[in-house]
Amino acid sequence: MKNIEESLRYTLQQIRDAEQQYGRACGSVKLLAVSKTCNKEEILEAARWGQLDFAENYVQEAIEKIKATNNPALIWHFIGPVQSNKTRPIAEYFHWVHSIDRIKIAQRLNDSRPDGYPPLNVCIQMNISGETSKAGIGPEQARELAQAIITLPRLKLRGLMALPAPGHEFAQQRWPFARLQQHLRELQSSFPGMDTLSMGTTNDMVAAIAEGATMVRIGTAIFGPRA
Ligand SMILES: *Cc1c(COP(=O)(O)O)cnc(C)c1O
Repeated sequence: MKNIEESLRYTLQQIRDAEQQYGRACGSVKLLAVSKTCNKEEILEAARWGQLDFAENYVQEAIEKIKATNNPALIWHFIGPVQSNKTRPIAEYFHWVHSIDRIKIAQRLNDSRPDGYPPLNVCIQMNISGETSKAGIGPEQARELAQAIITLPRLKLRGLMALPAPGHEFAQQRWPFARLQQHLRELQSSFPGMDTLSMGTTNDMVAAIAEGATMVRIGTAIFGPRA
């Protein structure tokens, strides 16, 4: 097991350095610890050092860990593909869903959000060319989806998410993030509540921060390589 305290500290320092280097306000980029495949002990260890936001891709695995860690201070982000038969547990256990790309899924999450819970924070996943998976939608569909989401009282539209294909050079890493930022700006004039750009992983975090990321999703740098 990696020294989680050390790698968290190092990652947070890299984020602060990148904020400073690219003229971003100090503290404007939030670190999400991607804990897929991690066990409960690793999550609790990260939490002990102050990391409260965790992101997961697989519903069943995530819910077991949410129950096992049993810590109401933790904030859970769903970042994997949302299947329509899994919307109920997602709406019950998560605080954020970053990977919405269909109106039907948005409706189902809204309908499954339990009474008395605050609205579920959601981001629309876009596919800016070169995306690694088929997930995510284009600009016109994103606008239609945003329009639908704001009519759903149990969802709160927060922003855009993307997972571009890995680029090796810094300049090459920047351009898809720049496009996502541009899409956010265009949508913000109609949807002023959108304040989130969820982009950047271990390999391209600095490029994402340079282009306006407000949340970076980091697994490997914190917990080590996944099996
Ligand atoms: C796994 C994953 C990450 C984290 O990737 P690392 O390279 O381990 O930092 C971020 N976002 C999504 C959607 C992921 O599936």
